[in-house]
Amino acid sequence: MMHSIDISDQKFNCFKCGNCCYNILREQDTGEYGYNFQGELLLNPRTSLIILYNEKYELEQNLLNYDLKARFYPGMVFFMKDYPYGFIYSYQLGVKKKKYCMFYDLSKRECKIYPIRPVICRSYPLGCNAFEGLNLLPEATCTGVIEMVHHVDSNVKEGELVYYPFSQDQMASAFPIEFFLRANIISFKIWELKIILDKLGSMFLEEKNVTPSRVNNYTLLNFHEFLGWAKDKITEKHQRLKIQRFSQEFEFGKQHFAQQLASLVKKHKD
Ligand code: SF4
Ligand code: SF4
Repeated sequence: MMHSIDISDQKFNCFKCGNCCYNILREQDTGEYGYNFQGELLLNPRTSLIILYNEKYELEQNLLNYDLKARFYPGMVFFMKDYPYGFIYSYQLGVKKKKYCMFYDLSKRECKIYPIRPVICRSYPLGCNAFEGLNLLPEATCTGVIEMVHHVDSNVKEGELVYYPFSQDQMASAFPIEFFLRANIISFKIWELKIILDKLGSMFLEEKNVTPSRVNNYTLLNFHEFLGWAKDKITEKHQRLKIQRFSQEFEFGKQHFAQQLASLVKKHKD
């Protein structure tokens, strides 16, 4: 049964229950290739928290103050056409016991790195799925969202489908911090993917040609390694020019992202 519930006049409140830190492995709904936690390439593997490559550097730096080190696994990878190399666009954060985030303290039921947690955690419970395009929707399994729904209709049971009959503006008013963060990250990601594909798209395998047998022997590079490698190895003039332009925009994008993220997080610090 589908319930139509309007929660737009309420304000989201996080109960710090830890549900979103505990069940973090999920099926991808985008049909992308990615790696599982044994390093094997699979279609539609389960994925954990997605960390953008530029956020990864920030997190690694910040973790030094906690004496902790993150385990990252490749998420989205671009595979090259004529060379056995791929470069990693996004990462997944390590999990424990195939269940919970590596930074979740199970005994205390709290995040060990709460002040420096990734943006995806700060903007939870909002997310988008393949059916709703870029519209942001709350996750039905979040305790805070369940409370909001029950405030309107206490008969809705866990797991029942809920339809939210209100606009994205109203969503922004119910989830002000989360909406602001997630919407900014999505628009940055789209802008950046556009630069990558505009400048370098012709160098990558088309998705339909990416198969585990074809790309399992690829060496994966991060963006910096990829740019260094490309400078040395790509000799064709036209391609070199493209990489040079991409590299400039990429550096600009990285700095812009770091500044934007720092100011967003500062503005919305808990
Ligand atoms: S965001 Fe939701 S699921 Fe996560 S800790 Fe807060 S209330 Fe719990
Ligand atoms: S980083 Fe912290 S807030 Fe994010 S999932 Fe892990 S434990 Fe939870």
